[in-house]
Amino acid sequence: MNEYDSAKIADLLAATQGMELTEDSQDADLILFNTCSVREKAQEKVFHELGRARLVKEARPGVLIGVGGCVASQEGAAIIRRAPYVDLVFGPQTLHRLPELIAKRRSTGRPQVDISFPEIEKFDHLPAARVEGASAFVSIMEGCSKYCTFCVVPYTRGEEISRPHAQVLAEIRDLAAAGVREVTLLGQNVNAYRGALPDGESADLALLLAHAAAVPGIERLRFTTSHPREMTPRLVEAFASLPKLASQLHLPVQSGSDRILAAMKRGYTALEYKSLVRKLRAARPDLSLTTDFIVGFPGETDADFEKTLALATELRFDGSFNFLYSQRPGTPAAELEHPVPQATKQARFERLQELLEQCHAAYSQAMVDSVQKVLVTGHAKKDGAELSGRCDNNRIVNFAGQARLIGQIVEVRITAALPHSLRGEVVIRD
Ligand code: SAM
Repeated sequence: MNEYDSAKIADLLAATQGMELTEDSQDADLILFNTCSVREKAQEKVFHELGRARLVKEARPGVLIGVGGCVASQEGAAIIRRAPYVDLVFGPQTLHRLPELIAKRRSTGRPQVDISFPEIEKFDHLPAARVEGASAFVSIMEGCSKYCTFCVVPYTRGEEISRPHAQVLAEIRDLAAAGVREVTLLGQNVNAYRGALPDGESADLALLLAHAAAVPGIERLRFTTSHPREMTPRLVEAFASLPKLASQLHLPVQSGSDRILAAMKRGYTALEYKSLVRKLRAARPDLSLTTDFIVGFPGETDADFEKTLALATELRFDGSFNFLYSQRPGTPAAELEHPVPQATKQARFERLQELLEQCHAAYSQAMVDSVQKVLVTGHAKKDGAELSGRCDNNRIVNFAGQARLIGQIVEVRITAALPHSLRGEVVIRD
């Protein structure tokens, strides 16, 4: 989501200010940080990086420094109190107002802060996405109304709000016309999408996927991130009825213990989650399912953690993002007693990580000799003479092939599984 927002910021500043992206802050007139506050570590990193930007500004006083994203949303003007050389503070919902904020900063000489939530206004003010290659991300909803007790998102990005169905489809049509073959629909709880239809009704994600799949040129669709509570029978059915929907789903479970799931306010039990996975696998037998786990939520006992390991073993996830619980100010869990000692958290984390890495490697190994549909994204990173692409389950495959295949979906036979990628060869049919 942040990468998408950053690309939009770059587009907006190119269109309104004639600015160009530079990778080197020494060359920059404006240095922006697009931040994440889901965990404390990410938040602290921002202040560390700001210190470095300050040196650039000291050398060239005309440089402006801005902080956007969820740290900005959470800290607001406090950022300027802690780092007075910051000129602009804007939230995820006000990034489209950057041109105004820059102009005001220049005319008044005073730092500007705007972290309000002006609903979906942001989408109406942004230029069309820039297309790079055959893949694109399309944001379809923002925010979260689930209020899991550990999470800051509802407070930093606001409640769930969806873009109108026609607006999303128009963006997908434009992308397809510009050569995009694969679209990933994005949202904090993307499957909570309820986009307004012209007749006053609303379209759910299943309907949007069906319509997106019918757009000429679109060959593959993905969506992320989903919440288990919003995984409706219609969406499960979409995996059976829409071949263009990739065989991949990221469905965060967080824990295998019902006691912890209830304390997190997730709204499902481990059994309910397992039954959902059974239905999804019945609809799409080769579904690659990945998840998120939080280890060391307050009050998590050894017995709770064993339940998490048991669930991970039973469901054979294709991979997972494992997180150490991080206490976030303002969330209900921050008030809970019985924090898990750091060493215990770390030891549990490592056990879970090892289990999931084994599962991921076993999946990769099982792909050897299979034929995969691969969207060719460009030249391989290590060997520029080779091509690189992504399978349905998002793994990177490197293989020999001609540059004219870039941007197409080709069949590739997997010949070897390496820790972070696969090797393959293009299938030539007579
Ligand atoms: N909407 C999805 C859901 O909840 O099902 C996930 C989106 S969330 C912004 C991304 C992930 O960050 C979560 O699934 C969770 O595992 C992790 N996360 C969020 N808050 C956290 C915290 N306080 N400590 C550790 N991990 C956290």
